[in-house]
Amino acid sequence: LGSVVVGDDPASLIYQRGKGKAAAEAGIEWFYKQLPADVGQDALLQVVSEMAADDRVDGILVQSPLPAGYDYDYRQVVKAIPAGKDVDGFHAENVGGVATDGSGIPGCTAAGIMVLLDHAGVQIRGANATVVGRSSIVGRPASYLLLARDATVTVAHRHTRDLAAVTRTADILIVAVGKPGLITGDMVKPGAVVIDVGINRTEDGICGDVDFASVSEVASAITPVPGGVGPMTIAMLLANTLMAAERSAGITTW
Ligand code: NDP
Repeated sequence: LGSVVVGDDPASLIYQRGKGKAAAEAGIEWFYKQLPADVGQDALLQVVSEMAADDRVDGILVQSPLPAGYDYDYRQVVKAIPAGKDVDGFHAENVGGVATDGSGIPGCTAAGIMVLLDHAGVQIRGANATVVGRSSIVGRPASYLLLARDATVTVAHRHTRDLAAVTRTADILIVAVGKPGLITGDMVKPGAVVIDVGINRTEDGICGDVDFASVSEVASAITPVPGGVGPMTIAMLLANTLMAAERSAGITTW
């Protein structure tokens, strides 16, 4: 698993260390490159191309966001990663594959949400699933995976009118917004399963987008923050790397 970080943003470095440690624990070799913030788009693309050509590397990550104040284009960087090594699931070919016939490498957070639901024995087929947030990293891929599993999916966003009316229809409520306490108990259907993707740094520490105290009174199951979806994202990164390695070796168990 190859990882490229540009700059020295402390949160990115902590996140990278976590990924490197998880990879080592799983027996996945970790190729790490940290580049100076001002390395430039061309030099960054060169490093990505070298990893792309390296047979020892089955998966490539480039930490986002790239440093502000420079002329970086993250979409071009993602394009430079071969789809088969794009273990973040950001490449258009993977997004398209997930959205159509399920062939693409799925986004790690969205895939982790599905594993959590399955592990908890949640009935997905026929359920009303509402995803709050439509980012290409979480909300959209989560909605594609739920639709592929025969849920009736609603995707809410900033322009949704009467968010509470929409969230109250959900048997499965996924929240990926980045606003602490956005979802409160009165917005949740009794018995719903609630997945809180949000990671917000507040004065009181890290919290999610869901007001755990009030929603846990109403929901039948709820993920905590921290310790819920976050660790699943890293676990699925490792699973995606294994999938990429097996596919490139011609093993078609995935
Ligand atoms: P983005 O900022 O890319 O997307 C946020 C989404 O929320 C947008 O679609 C936006 O709508 C929507 N939104 C914003 N405000 C409201 C509102 N008041 N009502 C309804 N919808 C709203 O964020 P990400 O998807 O990248 O991340 C979301 C959260 O998940 C963050 O806290 C992030 O840190 C966390 N995260 C956690 C991960 C994990 O592993 N647990 C992994 C990735 C992210 P619009 O499109 O209209 O602007």
